[in-house]
Amino acid sequence: MDLKSLVRTIPNYPKDGIMFRDITTLLEHPAGFRRTVDELVQPFAGSSITRVAGIEARGFILGGAVAHQLSIGFVAVRKKGKLPWQTISVEYELEYGTDEVEIHIDSVEAGDQILIIDDLIATGGTAAASVQLIREVGGEVVGASFIVDLPDLGGRARLEDMGVPVRTLMSFEGD
Ligand code: AMP
Repeated sequence: MDLKSLVRTIPNYPKDGIMFRDITTLLEHPAGFRRTVDELVQPFAGSSITRVAGIEARGFILGGAVAHQLSIGFVAVRKKGKLPWQTISVEYELEYGTDEVEIHIDSVEAGDQILIIDDLIATGGTAAASVQLIREVGGEVVGASFIVDLPDLGGRARLEDMGVPVRTLMSFEGD
């Protein structure tokens, strides 16, 4: 199955010059969604990972399915101000301004082996901040998996420089 053909591209969204890679069309496709989750799970079946960390919001859909399939727990990495218990946060740069992600301080135990999941890696800012959060609460990041890689924006290289193996199911060049 050609998963890439199930991703919809929307030019100039949310602003001029951005090619938005919309995975909702892939999620809506029964066999496409199943295959996507299977491919995200496959390298980690029988591995030592103990939790999946999904990044808000599309990482929740995918990460939840992956955690279920691996019969392990799910950890939410959320945008600032959404988590009800004690959190730590990391701020990161956007093209204009900054953003912040948070994690519950007790959502990871020392020595937990964590797989990070999100839909897409662009500059890697969000994922790098998530790696930092997980490390700060004592977890070990054993990998980060995404459906889509935008290689020209350098996110994969950035995570690999942090010692995190990256896996993606497809890439769109030139963005
Ligand atoms: P970044 O922190 O730059 O790696 O951005 C990653 C986050 O922004 C992911 O959660 C994506 O959902 C979203 N994102 C960034 N660029 C795009 C794009 N061209 N199409 C769709 N989503 C994007």
